[in-house]
Amino acid sequence: MSERSNIIDLLWHNSLVGKFVTLAMVVAFLIMGTNAFINYQSQKDTSLANIISQSEMLGSFIVSITPEAILSYDYDALDNYMEEINKGEDIVYAIILTPEGRPLTSYVDRRNSFIVEKMRNTKKLKLEKLIDDLNKNKFIIQQSFPIFFQNNLLGDFKVGISKSRIEKDLKNKLINQIIVSLILTVLLGIGIFIVFRLYTMKPILQLIQGAQRIAGGTLDKKVKIKSNDELGRLGEVFNQMMDKLRTSIEDKDEALVTVKELNLYLEERVIDRTKELKGVNEQLEKLAMNDSLTGLPNRFCIQNRLNNLFIEAKRDNSVFTVVMMDLDRFKDINDTLGHDCGDQLLIEVGLRLKDILRPSDFLGRLGGDEFAILLTETDENNAKTVAQKIQSALEPSFYLSEMAFSIAASIGIATYPQHGSTTSTILKSADVAMYYAKQNKLEYCIYNPGADRNTPDRLSLMGELRQAIHEDQLELFYQPEVDLSSRRIIGVEALVRWNHPERGFIPPDDFIPMAEQSGLIRPLTYWVLNSAIRQREKWHDMGIDILISINISMHNLNDTEFAPQLEMLLQNTDVPVEYFEFEVTESSIMDNPDHVVEVMDKLNTLNVSFAVDDFGTGYSSLSLLKKLPVHKLKIDKSFIMEMETDSDDEAIVHSVIDMAHILGLNVIAEGVENEKVIQLLTSLGCDLVQGYHISRPLPAKLITPMLEHGSWDADNGHSGAVHNLR
Ligand code: C2E
Ligand code: CA
Ligand code: CA
Repeated sequence: MSERSNIIDLLWHNSLVGKFVTLAMVVAFLIMGTNAFINYQSQKDTSLANIISQSEMLGSFIVSITPEAILSYDYDALDNYMEEINKGEDIVYAIILTPEGRPLTSYVDRRNSFIVEKMRNTKKLKLEKLIDDLNKNKFIIQQSFPIFFQNNLLGDFKVGISKSRIEKDLKNKLINQIIVSLILTVLLGIGIFIVFRLYTMKPILQLIQGAQRIAGGTLDKKVKIKSNDELGRLGEVFNQMMDKLRTSIEDKDEALVTVKELNLYLEERVIDRTKELKGVNEQLEKLAMNDSLTGLPNRFCIQNRLNNLFIEAKRDNSVFTVVMMDLDRFKDINDTLGHDCGDQLLIEVGLRLKDILRPSDFLGRLGGDEFAILLTETDENNAKTVAQKIQSALEPSFYLSEMAFSIAASIGIATYPQHGSTTSTILKSADVAMYYAKQNKLEYCIYNPGADRNTPDRLSLMGELRQAIHEDQLELFYQPEVDLSSRRIIGVEALVRWNHPERGFIPPDDFIPMAEQSGLIRPLTYWVLNSAIRQREKWHDMGIDILISINISMHNLNDTEFAPQLEMLLQNTDVPVEYFEFEVTESSIMDNPDHVVEVMDKLNTLNVSFAVDDFGTGYSSLSLLKKLPVHKLKIDKSFIMEMETDSDDEAIVHSVIDMAHILGLNVIAEGVENEKVIQLLTSLGCDLVQGYHISRPLPAKLITPMLEHGSWDADNGHSGAVHNLR
């Protein structure tokens, strides 16, 4: 039942065809109906005119023939005439009256229903009254014709004609026509419905079904409309649209697959990269653990061991001692006999030390000609014996280049817990003791806190440094940093110099650590920053736009005043902060990595950028480097200067460059002293270089021409322009 009403709904109420057929039928019916009605009206008029003209003919006929009968009072003849009139179908009555109104003869149609009715109701019907009533009837037309004879009025002929028969006929005709119209309208409706269904609705329904299929996701079944009208074209366009849609969906699917594949590929690459990074890290750590020259544990390894010793000693309440040793006049041997001999000597020393030590003692090379020995459960007295054993082991001559050499060593001793409770402090204590032994030409020296900080010499030098900062004895030298691919100078490193009025030139390595310990590093750094900014302004005015790298000590980063001072200085200059870069050494970062990350992040809000200085000596981890807001690694000069001859160093430099690039960092190599190293670094993909081969650090005045030139060209030999300047 509901299905049927659905079909009716579809075919009629909810369909175009229903609406169209209804409209067409109404219009057709209205046209035909109106036509029939107009016909009816005009026929009625014509019939009426006919009746009137018939009666007029009758009237004129009667008027022409009756005078004679009236004049001769021939009533029979007059009655005969009336008899004749009786034959006229629509004549209801006829009467001839004298001029006085007396009837001479009359005729009344007794079949007429009105008259039949009157006669039935009235017993004695008066003729005048009957005619009077008849005339009031709207279906009867009365006409009157005067009868003359030679201009004398003889009487009046009146005739009443009924319209009702004609009207009845015409009405019947009208009804017939309306019925025919209705039938025609229905037939027309059916015709239109069939044609519409066949030629219009069928294609439209096909299109609807096609669209429903598309909505359901079927895009390969075309609609088939066999017609060449607009609907046929609509079908073609519909099919084309579906094709386009299908291809674009296919394209999209394909693109999605590609994106998925790319994602997978990327994920794989990320995994590979992570593996690579891990590998590089492991390789670096391995390289970092052992000193390639002597095969002894290196500084990193020594520090590790020390860290463990602290844990064990603190746990077991035990003591241990650090013995630090360096060779006297090693630099001379290196300089006169060459690096190979120096290297050979270091290997020999390592072997002799190993010989005299117990297996539980830990021997390592700190770097250069410095060795460290960690003696577990050994106090300073026992350590003294070890120091003496070392001195006697070094007594026999060394044979280098077929020459005999005797070599002495300076030994410093520091013991836990008296001389330090952290790795760096105990190493520093042993270092100070060693320095003291060297200065005083002692066989060995045990750390004495009093001898460290407050030597009269130190105290006076510190006072002088304070003065020097205020009296402008300091000067900034600048050393260019060159882009390897373009050979353009992209920046300079600012390096401080102290021109002491009596002692002469004091290298920064001799007063910076002191300034750090005494707190003078704050005014010193402020002076350096201020001078660098002023110099940068001068260069800017000359059209030289380069980066200035400034060395920042860990003490500065720990100083809460540092950031506000820096901010103030930067506010008072037009030079954008992007033109300054801060170098922080890797080892100072490693002293307290978490803290450094925090401080660097804070300073990063001032938009200053950081570089890790002396990279390779501090044994930082990849994970830490990733956390730091640095964008540059400066490989320590000790690797660069040796890489030409030392394949281990070259391997380290190679790994560092690769790793830095993986981390998205720029790499600069410092300590570049010849063209061969430049070639090597270029082949390893290093970004920037700095070193004596390009230029020694120079005062602003002397470096300016080179900066104006803008690029470094080896042949022109800007390198070593002023050889005597440090
Ligand atoms: P650094 O930051 O590693 O500076 C590079 C040092 O390497 C400089 O020594 C430079 O003269 C030297 N150098 C450059 N090229 C070569 C080369 O080809 N071969 C060799 N053998 N050496 C080269 P410098 O100027 O004596 O500075 C020593 C250290 O003093 C610096 O090491 C830095 O740590 C510190 N320093 C210098 N100026 C400042 C400063 O303004 N503030 C602070 N906090 N530290 C400073
Ligand atoms: Ca530096
Ligand atoms: Ca450096």
